[in-house]
Amino acid sequence: LGSVVVGDDPASLIYQRGKGKAAAEAGIEWFYKQLPADVGQDALLQVVSEMAADDRVDGILVQSPLPAGYDYDYRQVVKAIPAGKDVDGFHAENVGGVATDGSGIPGCTAAGIMVLLDHAGVQIRGANATVVGRSSIVGRPASYLLLARDATVTVAHRHTRDLAAVTRTADILIVAVGKPGLITGDMVKPGAVVIDVGINRTEDGICGDVDFASVSEVASAITPVPGGVGPMTIAMLLANTLMAAERSAGITTW
Ligand code: NAD
Repeated sequence: LGSVVVGDDPASLIYQRGKGKAAAEAGIEWFYKQLPADVGQDALLQVVSEMAADDRVDGILVQSPLPAGYDYDYRQVVKAIPAGKDVDGFHAENVGGVATDGSGIPGCTAAGIMVLLDHAGVQIRGANATVVGRSSIVGRPASYLLLARDATVTVAHRHTRDLAAVTRTADILIVAVGKPGLITGDMVKPGAVVIDVGINRTEDGICGDVDFASVSEVASAITPVPGGVGPMTIAMLLANTLMAAERSAGITTW
């Protein structure tokens, strides 16, 4: 698993350390490159191309966001990663494969949400699932995976007129927005399963998008923040790397 970080943003470095440690624990070799913030788009693309050509590397990550104030284009960087090594699931070929026939490498967070639901024995087929947030990193891929599993999916976002009316229909409520306390108990159907993807740094520490105190009174199950979806994202990164390695070795069990 190859990882590239540009700059020295403390949060990015913490994420990288977590991923590197998890990879080592799983017996996955970790190739880490930290580049100066001003390395530039061309040099970054060169490093990605070298990893792309390296047979020892089955999966490639480039930490986003790239440093502000420089002329970086993250989409071009993602394009430079061969789809088969794009273990973040960001490449258009993987997104398309997930959205159509399920063949693409799925986004790690969305895939982790599905594993959490399955592990908890949640019935997905026929359930009303509402995803709040439509980012290409979380909301959209989560909606594709839920649809593929026969849920009735509603995607809400910043222009949704009456958010509570939409969230109250959900048997499965997935929230990926980045606004602490956005979802309160009165917005949740009794018995719903609530997955809180948000990671917000506040004066009181890290919290999600869901007001845990009020929602946990109403929901039948709810993920905590921290400790819920976050660790699953890293676990699925390792699973995606294994899938990429097996595919490139011609093992087609995935
Ligand atoms: P983003 O900023 O790209 O997207 C946010 C989405 O929320 C947008 O689609 C926007 O339309 C919607 N939104 C904004 N305000 C809203 C409102 N008032 N009502 C309804 N929808 C609203 O964010 P992202 O990258 O998807 O991340 C969302 C959150 O999830 C962040 O807190 C991020 O840190 C966290 N996150 C966690 C993990 C994890 O592993 N747990 C992974 C990725 C992102």
